[in-house]
Amino acid sequence: MSRNTIARINLAAIYQNLARVRSLAPGSALACVVKADAYGHGLSRIYSALEEADILAVATTGEAVMCREQGWTGRLLLLEGPANVSEFDQILALDGEMVVHHETQLQLLRQRNRELKGPLWLKIDTGMHRLGFPVADAREVHAELEKLRGSEHSVLMTHFACADDMTNPMTQKQIKQFDTATSGLRGPASLANSAGILNFRDSQRDFVRPGIMLYGISPCQQKNASDIGLKPAMTLQCELIAINNVKAGESIGYGAAFTCPADMKVGIGAIGYGDGYPRHARNGTPVLVNGKRASLVGHVSMDMINIDLSEHPEARVGNTVTLWGEGLPIEEVSPWADSIPYQLICGVTARVRAVVE
Ligand SMILES: *Cc1c(COP(=O)(O)O)cnc(C)c1O
Repeated sequence: MSRNTIARINLAAIYQNLARVRSLAPGSALACVVKADAYGHGLSRIYSALEEADILAVATTGEAVMCREQGWTGRLLLLEGPANVSEFDQILALDGEMVVHHETQLQLLRQRNRELKGPLWLKIDTGMHRLGFPVADAREVHAELEKLRGSEHSVLMTHFACADDMTNPMTQKQIKQFDTATSGLRGPASLANSAGILNFRDSQRDFVRPGIMLYGISPCQQKNASDIGLKPAMTLQCELIAINNVKAGESIGYGAAFTCPADMKVGIGAIGYGDGYPRHARNGTPVLVNGKRASLVGHVSMDMINIDLSEHPEARVGNTVTLWGEGLPIEEVSPWADSIPYQLICGVTARVRAVVE
C-alpha cells in the first residue's frame, strides 16, 4: 500500500462553510476566492462544493483557466487584473472580469476597451498600499472608466490590511477613506475579505470576497472557527512508522536539536517539509496521536517528524497522527511554526495524497 500521508478534504464542510458565510453576510453576493488552487485544497477536488458561489475569484489567468476547465460558466474575477496585453486578451477570451488597480492597466483598457464585456472592478488603495489607485485619484479614474464602459458601472473595491484584528482601528479608517473617495460615484461596492465579513459588518456591501472562511479557518485572531460555525475542510494526517525508546541524555534527529530529559518513548511520523509540513515547527508543536494530544520534539526533517509519546503508552506503529484539521485547529498549530494557516494550507505538496470525503 502507498504511504499513508494524506490530506482529507471534506466537501460537505466547504459547502456548509459557504452557507455559513452567506448567513453572516445575507445582503451581499459572494465572490468566493479560490486562488492558489483553492488555498491548497485543489480546485478540481473542491469545485463541486462551491456551486452556490455568485462569483469565483482568482489571482492569475492560469487559475481562471482552471475554473473554466472545471465547467464554471458563471462570473469569474481576476483579483490582480492583467499584467500585460497577452493577459488582457486571455481574460477577454475567458470571459473574465478584471480588477483595474494601476495606470498601466488603464492604458491597456484605452487600447482594447471595445472588446470588453462585463464590469470592471476599480480598486482603490485606502491604506494597505499594495494594489489600487490613490484615494485622491479615484474620482478621475472612475470618470474615465464610466466613459469607456458606458452604462456598465464599475465595481468600487478596496482591500483591508488588518481586519483580522477586530481591535485594530485601521479597518474603520479604511472604510471611511473608501466611503469618502466613492461618495456619489455610481456602481456597486466590494470591501470585505473573510475577516471584514466577520468583524466589520458595515464593510459588507454589494459583494464580499470570502477566502479562508470557506475552508473552515477563522479569519480572526479573537475567534475560533467552531464558535463562528466553520468546519475545517482539510485534515492533514500521517502514520507512525517507528516507535523508539530513547535514553535520558540522548538526542533526536538532525542537529541533535532535542535532548531527552528522561528515558522517553519517541514516535516517528511519516510527514515532513517535503510534504509541506513546516520545517520551523518547534519543540512542543501539538499533534494528535489517535486523537489524543502529543507534541513534536527535535527538528522536522524532509520526510519525518519526531513525536514525544511519553504520555501515549498505547501508541503503536501504524497509528494515525493528525497534524491539523478536525480535532486540531490549524490556527493553533501555525504560531508554533511562526506561520499563519494560509501559508500552511497553501504549502501542502503534491506528494500528499488527497482523499476527498
Ligand atoms: C485573497 C483575497 C481575498 C480573500 O481573503 P481571505 O482573507 O482569505 O478571506 C479577498 N480579496 C482579495 C483582493 C484577495 O486578494
